[in-house]
Amino acid sequence: EYGWTGVNECTFIAVKPDGVQRKLVGEIVRRFERRGFKLVGLKLVRVSEDLLREHYWDLRSKPFFSGLLTYMSSGPIVAMVWQGLDVVKTARKMMGETNPADSLPGTIRGDFCVEVGRNVIHGSDSVESAQKEISLWFGHDELQCWGPSSSRWVY
Ligand code: ADP
Ligand code: MG
Repeated sequence: EYGWTGVNECTFIAVKPDGVQRKLVGEIVRRFERRGFKLVGLKLVRVSEDLLREHYWDLRSKPFFSGLLTYMSSGPIVAMVWQGLDVVKTARKMMGETNPADSLPGTIRGDFCVEVGRNVIHGSDSVESAQKEISLWFGHDELQCWGPSSSRWVY
């Protein structure tokens, strides 16, 4: 049995507007559930460019930044928080690379998209950025606190 360290790690995952429009929400949720991660928060939201600017602040000097904000505000997004052991790193593996062309088949980007500017999913890149992103996108009252017994079948 696993010693419980790190099993409460959380990450922020978002199905981007193209993913929602292409009806990939169920498929993506299914992959995280099957892997053994626990859903802690989920909502369908249309967000402001101000929130997106903050979310992608590290990329503000990139040439694609304004296009990225337009893309991300072009329709509703499914914002989620998933919890589990090493979920930040594992979610990034499940997603594939930033550019779908570099993403192996079997990954979400490798299975469902072709273009870096329409890559269907976001996932936090570190535990620290996950914490920032979760507090930017969710209020405490929107997140579930599962007891340890709810993890018995995975750990
Ligand atoms: P990731 O989403 O894999 O963490 P980044 O944080 O580097 O990737 O970039 C954030 C998002 O910006 C990407 O998911 C993609 O939607 C967009 N993006 C990154 N690079 C490019 C690019 N060269 N052209 C257009 N959009 C890009
Ligand atoms: Mg990133």
